[in-house]
Amino acid sequence: MQKTLAIIKPDGLLGNYTDDIKRTILEYGFNIVKEKIVQLDDATVKRFYAEHSSKSFFSNLVKYMTSGPVLIMILEKNNAIADWRALMGPTDASNAKITHPHSIRAKCGLDTEKNCVHGSDSPKSAQREILFFFKELSAD
Ligand code: ATP
Ligand code: MG
Repeated sequence: MQKTLAIIKPDGLLGNYTDDIKRTILEYGFNIVKEKIVQLDDATVKRFYAEHSSKSFFSNLVKYMTSGPVLIMILEKNNAIADWRALMGPTDASNAKITHPHSIRAKCGLDTEKNCVHGSDSPKSAQREILFFFKELSAD
């Protein structure tokens, strides 16, 4: 069984989408192995999204991700990484409403920035991100 890191971002938590999203997660056969609600600070978001540090949207991304608490989860199932990315839908939530209307981002996201959820994009990222937030666990 594969593990991935999922985050319900501040807009998802504030907008009361958490119960709906968790219901969908369970319906699709994921186990929620671990979860915690945290208020991220600037330094943590900058480290977590370090790969985007040179992008024009980076400072806005840091503001967004620190704007309220987030729910961080480890999800587990066969093919968890790709299946969770598919369930989230594309990065641009406004586009997702047209191209992937049943995706989570279509339902609770707003645009390219405020897109409600995060998912690891590869086994290497999943390994890093799970260790990043849950030091006591590894991805397998
Ligand atoms: P995530 O990594 O959060 O799962 P993703 O892999 O779909 O999302 P990335 O390209 O890794 O997308 O971007 C990380 C996050 O940065 C996006 O989820 C979004 O919140 C924000 N972001 C990405 N592109 C833009 C943009 N052009 N303008 C504003 N914010 C952006
Ligand atoms: Mg990403």
